[in-house]
Amino acid sequence: MGEEERYDFVIVGGGPNGVTLAAYLAKCGASVCVLEERPEAGGAVENTQPIAGVHINPHAIMLYGGAAPGFDQLELWKYGFRMSSPNQMGDIMADVDRGVATTGGMAPISQKDQMGYAKLSGLLGQPTFTRELLRATFWCPPHPPEVEVTIDNIPYMQVYKQRQPDVWTEELLDMDMFDLMDEYLESEPFKVQWAVVAWYSGAAGHWKGVAIPAWCSMVALVIYSRMSVPRSGMHDYFHAVMRCALAHGAVIRTCCPVDEIILNDGTAVGVRLRDNATLGEKKIWAKKAVVSAIDVRQTFNKLIGPQHVDRGLLQKVNDISLKGGSIYVAHLYTRERLRPKRPWAKMMAGPYPLDSREIYYEHATDVDGKRGNPTVPPGRALWLTTPYERFASTDPQVTRHEGYVMSPIYFLVPPPEYHVDGPDAINKWKDGMNAYVIKGMSEVYENLNSDNIIHLWANSPYDSEFRNTGLIGGTYYGTRHCADQWAENRPIPELARYRTPIDGLYLCNQTACHPGGLFLMAIPYNLMHILIEDGLVEPGDWWYPSPWYIPERGKISAIPGK
Ligand SMILES: Cc1cc2nc3c(=O)[nH]c(=O)nc-3n(C[C@H](O)[C@H](O)[C@H](O)COP(=O)(O)OP(=O)(O)OC[C@H]3O[C@@H](n4cnc5c(N)ncnc54)[C@H](O)[C@@H]3O)c2cc1C
Repeated sequence: MGEEERYDFVIVGGGPNGVTLAAYLAKCGASVCVLEERPEAGGAVENTQPIAGVHINPHAIMLYGGAAPGFDQLELWKYGFRMSSPNQMGDIMADVDRGVATTGGMAPISQKDQMGYAKLSGLLGQPTFTRELLRATFWCPPHPPEVEVTIDNIPYMQVYKQRQPDVWTEELLDMDMFDLMDEYLESEPFKVQWAVVAWYSGAAGHWKGVAIPAWCSMVALVIYSRMSVPRSGMHDYFHAVMRCALAHGAVIRTCCPVDEIILNDGTAVGVRLRDNATLGEKKIWAKKAVVSAIDVRQTFNKLIGPQHVDRGLLQKVNDISLKGGSIYVAHLYTRERLRPKRPWAKMMAGPYPLDSREIYYEHATDVDGKRGNPTVPPGRALWLTTPYERFASTDPQVTRHEGYVMSPIYFLVPPPEYHVDGPDAINKWKDGMNAYVIKGMSEVYENLNSDNIIHLWANSPYDSEFRNTGLIGGTYYGTRHCADQWAENRPIPELARYRTPIDGLYLCNQTACHPGGLFLMAIPYNLMHILIEDGLVEPGDWWYPSPWYIPERGKISAIPGK
């Protein structure tokens, strides 16, 4: 048996949220230990080589987090983070020139579309305020419970009021994204394009009350980060964060599944590892706090256990909606690059087909309503993939003698838990689903045939859950970003500020915390405000809080000097 280990903070789960928090805490001078179940840390920002020299990303690929304060606060460039800088205005002009992919070819984008798009996204501000808008939406903790949330204090509403007052109206809070776009944009395919991108990126285009979070999810990907892929993919971004945590003294242990959060008189004081953990000492103690950076259901049902959780709270946790966000992910390894047919010659990577919102609603009905295998004809199913161009030529996906990889390719499907024929229904029909994917994409690509395909890999949401036990629903934002699970309501109001009813236990996972997945470093940054409020950490000069943060009454303010 090794010596008993004690740290200020013990973090359960070595995904991007757990390890980013470790970097923040270690930079504050705290001792931190991260415990990860799998042999490699990184959670859903992993990558893999199914054949030597062919790199695929089973889950995350694109950067949504460009606006994160963490890039400068943690100085990730020092730890090897590299990204090819997109040419923002050049790319936006290229998008306009390219048009929008419909079944009849590329549809034009009008002047009114361009102006509305720029206005809602903060590009018409003097100076532009896109970053401010994104930070207000995602990189700010929910307000304290004693503060009534009003149109005057919702962060993104404040940004519009100050920077683009003609957009500001109380009605924004009731709209869905289509309502918003009907006011500012003109062409139906252009609107459908952004609704689809939003559905793939956070709050969906058809969900009431989250028009701006949905719009900003799209902006985070399309305008701010220009659909960019960090050098060597998202896993390499993760390596930079991990190197930062290690450089500041954090300990990261893999092959160390946690089975229990140990409570002493109702306070979380440490964790117990599963018997097969590689670490000899099976209990690790936390002097200040245990942070659960794994999914909210496992945290309360298994790690704490129903005997220590109020039954009402547990019921609410188990009732959190998973609808939306589950994707069937395909990866195509081909001999030749996929070539779009002539009408789509300018298309980069979808989404397709964007003719009208009827197409969008048909797909949404399959996913959220019928909750089975797809019933829409493959040529009308929506899909999105990653442009070849997003990988730097110095950093190709294929490093062996032949071939090209188009990966990931995303198709929205119901979460396994809600599938009417059982959680493994899509897996049982995988050949059929793969053929459906090929058929749908063959509408656009002329050489997507058996002669060209060397290999097709696919992971369903069920596979994703199996691969990474915390990916409930196999979703990319953890749980739904609908109005009743957004901000102060996320995942349920009782847990919205990352604290739990158990003293010394905090949450830091995409399923449990505002703003969910995709927006890198948002959860750890937001949680830092709360840990400072509770007197657990004191960051140095490098720290700056969100300008829209409201300190909780009776706590230490996370605003330096206050
Ligand atoms: C299909 C798909 C596509 C996505 N696309 C993108 C994208 O393009 N861009 C983007 O930015 N994001 C994307 N995401 C989202 C991104 O992957 C997640 O937001 C991110 O991984 C969430 O990080 P996390 O740390 O909260 O959770 P996770 O990544 O799930 O990490 C949790 C970690 O905890 C570990 N764990 C679980 N249980 C235990 C236990 N009992 N003990 C110890 N360890 C445990 C797990 O092994 C895992 O490593 C995608 C996700 C999916 C599923």
